[in-house]
Amino acid sequence: MKKIDIIVPVYNEESNIVKFYEKTKEELKGLKYNIIFVNDGSKDNSIIELKKVYERDKDIVKIISFSRNFGKDAAMYAGLKFSKADYACIIDADLQQNPKYLVEMYNFLESNNDYDCIAMVQKSKNRFLETSFYKFISSLSNLHFESGASDFRMFRKTVVKSLVSLGEVNRFTKGMFSYVGFNTFYKEYIVEERVSGVSKFNRLNQFKYAFDGITSFSNKPLRISTFLGAITTFVSFAFFVYLLVKCLIIGDDVSGVSSLMCALLFVSGVQLLCIGVLGEYIGKVYNEVKGRPVFIAKEVIGFDDSIL
Ligand code: UDP
Ligand code: MG
Repeated sequence: MKKIDIIVPVYNEESNIVKFYEKTKEELKGLKYNIIFVNDGSKDNSIIELKKVYERDKDIVKIISFSRNFGKDAAMYAGLKFSKADYACIIDADLQQNPKYLVEMYNFLESNNDYDCIAMVQKSKNRFLETSFYKFISSLSNLHFESGASDFRMFRKTVVKSLVSLGEVNRFTKGMFSYVGFNTFYKEYIVEERVSGVSKFNRLNQFKYAFDGITSFSNKPLRISTFLGAITTFVSFAFFVYLLVKCLIIGDDVSGVSSLMCALLFVSGVQLLCIGVLGEYIGKVYNEVKGRPVFIAKEVIGFDDSIL
């Protein structure tokens, strides 16, 4: 029987860990699996709860504990890097993604050799805004972003290897799933309510994340800046010619101060916008050239020495 590594990013989930572990154990009866908890610098008692769970089941539970909060993408990367099983999957610790689906995902990959990955897609009735947004970032980045698809996925080992081989520090995992290719099957599922605790991603964070995604996978914003620059230069020049002709023919050389102000402010705005976009990319290059690790592990529990 093939083995599954269940990767669980954990950030301040002290009250969910035991429930998650028990539910997963109950659902996955009869399957061969490990649960790799990645404690992403939790500030609550998550690590104590994780160690309790480890004591209960040393053969199944493994823990990677970060020195601080590095973000969910870093946690997913660490889990994938330490995964050795035939299949790896990512699932949240808050039970919003019911572990019962893991069995369906496993069975699907076992019986469909043409597919290398199965991604769960949130079932929702009205997704117009979300779908438009995903279409927009897909067109900007030349990658396919399935609307409603989360990180709740299971992959074959080859996909895991490809994901880990992408060495960037600034990891936009959703884009990477798409970038590495392979055949992905999208299956709808129902997202449940958080068992306890609060979500760590608010609207502002999601916006930042999306913006990060676009600049990580596309240089189209730079092209758009160049295009905007070209248009404003052209319009300004045309306006200049118009004013010159008007001044020479009518002799009206003092009026139009407000329109001049508007033009000045508009051009400065476009310039600042373009410098901002450029800055975003320079920031990314700066972060990458430093070559810092994606995460720093403080403690690793339950892995055999060959992996460390
Ligand atoms: N998470 C993490 N690091 C973070 C933020 C979140 O490891 O910096 C984990 C969190 O513990 C959970 C998963 O990522 O297991 C999803 O987080 P959350 O439930 O807050 O996101 P949402 O479900 O609202 O998208
Ligand atoms: Mg959640």
